[in-house]
Amino acid sequence: MRIMSKRLNLGSLILALALLSAVVALANTLMASYRVQRDQLISNTLEANRVYANKLAETTQNFILSSQQQLAYTAMLLGRADMEAHRAQDEASRLQLQTNSFNSVLIVNETGLVLATSPQTLHLKGDTLHSVGNQIALERRQPMVSDPYDSTTGKLLVAMSHPVFDARGTYKGYVSGTIYLRQRSILQSLLGTHYYRDGSYLYVVDRTGRLLYHIDPERVGTYAPGNPVIEAVSRGQRGAAQIRNSRGVSMLAGYAPVPATGWGVVAQRPTAATLQPLSQLMSAVIWRAIPLGVLSLLVTWWFARRISLPLWQLARNVQEGDTRLAISDVGSIRAWYFEVAQLKQAVLYSINTLQDRIGTLNRASRTDPLTGLLNRRGLQQSLESWKVQGQSFAILALDIDRFKAINDKHGHAVGDQVIGHIAEQMRRYSRDGDVLCRNGGEEFLMLLPTTDAEHALAIAERLRQQIAATAVDPVGHVSVSVGVAHYPTFDADAEQALRMADKALYMAKEQGRNRSVVYPYR
Ligand code: GH3
Ligand code: MG
Ligand code: MG
Repeated sequence: MRIMSKRLNLGSLILALALLSAVVALANTLMASYRVQRDQLISNTLEANRVYANKLAETTQNFILSSQQQLAYTAMLLGRADMEAHRAQDEASRLQLQTNSFNSVLIVNETGLVLATSPQTLHLKGDTLHSVGNQIALERRQPMVSDPYDSTTGKLLVAMSHPVFDARGTYKGYVSGTIYLRQRSILQSLLGTHYYRDGSYLYVVDRTGRLLYHIDPERVGTYAPGNPVIEAVSRGQRGAAQIRNSRGVSMLAGYAPVPATGWGVVAQRPTAATLQPLSQLMSAVIWRAIPLGVLSLLVTWWFARRISLPLWQLARNVQEGDTRLAISDVGSIRAWYFEVAQLKQAVLYSINTLQDRIGTLNRASRTDPLTGLLNRRGLQQSLESWKVQGQSFAILALDIDRFKAINDKHGHAVGDQVIGHIAEQMRRYSRDGDVLCRNGGEEFLMLLPTTDAEHALAIAERLRQQIAATAVDPVGHVSVSVGVAHYPTFDADAEQALRMADKALYMAKEQGRNRSVVYPYR
């Protein structure tokens, strides 16, 4: 009988456990190294952009300062020349063409009238300006850089200006250099075309957060509200931060202010671009880990099998119904580690014990306790095996004569002694292979294999005479009657042959007892 179990076996469990722990360990290592390297890459990029923004802010600062000096020089010359018209035109051209700092140069008198322009194609000469930049310059009468504004000619620009005072210190107007924000300008040359393939870029904002320079000309002049980096740099702070840009893309930004103008320079790179090599690295790590991982799983699988095999064999044999087979199977199991060795011993011990018990019970169930002869069940078993072998045999059926009288006279215990005595005599007159049985009460059966009726009768007679000749204390002489039959004579089956012996016994009793009779009655 085998109990089929749907449960997982030990081998699979060990393998699953090994697989699980390997996956957890690998995932943990990957996660940890991913985090460490990601943080490293992010902080490296932030630092690089911070340094870069600082550098460009410094360059811009230097440019503004030197441009202001150029304007100051021109203003000084014009002051000396009392804003003479020809000198104004010469200076405007010289300043614009020589320095290449400005898209245009304007020289304006104290009423806002344009005295000279460069390039002259601006066609502003002789006009009176009404722009915001002009008003502020006239009012303040000091060196300044304007916020971006739309010029009279419709261009978005910032203007740098310097006042002109004559020798007596009278205000005569101002010299102004403009930088166009949407066209090619010094600002663009200065900042370069900082557009990398990976999406890095650079922009400049003024103190209000308005874009002065951006890779996308459309956005120049607009605001990017809610951008923490722009807010910080507008307050004059410098540093680096991870932010989301106006399109929601995560960026690593470095920022620095330009103190001379209150502008801010921001250099930024998409976080994804920075982290891209990391995902390649991770997938390379995984691919590299696979061969050894597979190998170690195979080794684990092999060990799991070796560990679980003896346990599985033990478990299978515990369910084995045939104890003899189980003992030899369990004996051959290789118990190569402590627990299995202990288990194997325990299983062997319990199977042996079980076998002993079964043996004892078998014997007890087949034996008559008073005489030690077979009982009716034992006889039946012998008959079964003889039937299988096709064994022929003779039957002697014995019954003690007038036994009731012995019991009555001497008591039941003495009666039992007499029964024991008869059994003893039967043993003495039997050969190996004979089946001796107490058939119940004071009746016995002897089956003699390969014996014909004649020989059986002779044996019966010898036994009967021996019993009759032997006195049993305290009863004295006891006799038996015997019925003899043969199997397979008369086409009878074994049961019928037994009944024939019984009939012969009955005849022996009829004929006066203490005699043997062969069926059919001779
Ligand atoms: P017969 O010559 O016709 O056989 O006379 P009998 O008195 O022996 O008659 P029967 O065979 O019918 O007697 C059976 C008696 O055997 C009845 C019972 O009291 C006795 N008996 C049966 N089994 C036992 C036993 O185990 N021990 C003892 N002491 N007596 C038994
Ligand atoms: Mg009887
Ligand atoms: Mg009797």
